[in-house]
Amino acid sequence: MISLTVETLTKSFGETLALDRISLEVKAGEIFFLLGPSGCGKTTLLRSIAGFYIPEQGRILFGNEDVTRLPPHLRKTGMMFQSYALWPHMTVAKNVAFGLEEQRVEKHEITRRVGEALDSVKMGGLGERRIAQLSGGQQQRVALARALVIRPRCLLLDEPLSNLDAKLRLEMRGEIRRVCKESGLTAIYVTHDQKEALSVADRMAILDAGEIRQIGSPREVYRQPNSRFVADFMGETNFLEGKVTALWSEGVAVETALGSFQALAGLNSLHQPGDSCLVSIRPESWNLAAEPTPLNCVAGRIRDRVYLGEMAQYEFLATSGLRELKIYELNPRFVDLSEEREVYASVDPQDVVVLPDL
Ligand code: ATP
Repeated sequence: MISLTVETLTKSFGETLALDRISLEVKAGEIFFLLGPSGCGKTTLLRSIAGFYIPEQGRILFGNEDVTRLPPHLRKTGMMFQSYALWPHMTVAKNVAFGLEEQRVEKHEITRRVGEALDSVKMGGLGERRIAQLSGGQQQRVALARALVIRPRCLLLDEPLSNLDAKLRLEMRGEIRRVCKESGLTAIYVTHDQKEALSVADRMAILDAGEIRQIGSPREVYRQPNSRFVADFMGETNFLEGKVTALWSEGVAVETALGSFQALAGLNSLHQPGDSCLVSIRPESWNLAAEPTPLNCVAGRIRDRVYLGEMAQYEFLATSGLRELKIYELNPRFVDLSEEREVYASVDPQDVVVLPDL
């Protein structure tokens, strides 16, 4: 198990600055995600860690060892790509054994380790099957076993689930996390899928245009984004422009077009009374009630609704007429409410995030 350090890594392709002085630390045994929109530099960073790109500037350390200029095959990383790159006409066991044969490991040792790797991804007993006879999910497991069998110093995963259907993707998310934790592997995982990152990561970095915008645990980046970009990228939210009106040790009050809000979450000590800011409130943070509540409450009407069984999604028009809000209600009670009836949406100060006005 090793830690991994990236220091001020910079990589360009011609005019394109793909990585702009990226620094991060991944702890030993951690599952660390690189998340961001298409073209933000995730794959370039992963490939630099694997050794396929040499950066113009900066260093990569595996533990204390500087690997920045070490060729890929000497880094001892296990890789798993979107296209599994398995040989379809070879058996499962042959596919998994390949990396060990390259290393000229003894035959009986290969058989033992291939068996172990297949057991760890729950494919024990299927070693003699041909790849072409496997389902997509099973092929994915073989690809994971092939990455694990060489006992990598860290596991690098590039959109490993993007070829799978939604149900298998869900199943494999859990599997990848289980296998990494059971094997005590440090893993770096690239995706543009927020849900995948939130459900599997220990921590993650959100990238945008070659820069890191935020690093944190799933809860931190979802509940306490540090910018409009991260709040927006991590999920649905309602943004309200506002002005800070008061500041006290536990919170801040912000005046918006929908009234005053008190906020505890995502506090940024840089806010001062009079500052312009942006309030972010996620749709599921609102509570609907027939009567008004004293704090952070907006009167309005449900104008449109989508019933989804376990929850309903509402388009809520504030009585002031100034704003619409997206509100999600779990175990929906208000889904049949007439559009004429006024209801009250309120939010706990812990769920109100105050962001810089950028
Ligand atoms: P995606 O989610 O679409 O795979 P990404 O976040 O992984 O995107 P990268 O593939 O790292 O993004 O690309 C970062 C930037 O570098 C992009 O602007 C891309 O066009 C550019 N780029 C990446 N590889 C090359 C290359 N080999 N030659 C030229 N430009 C490249």
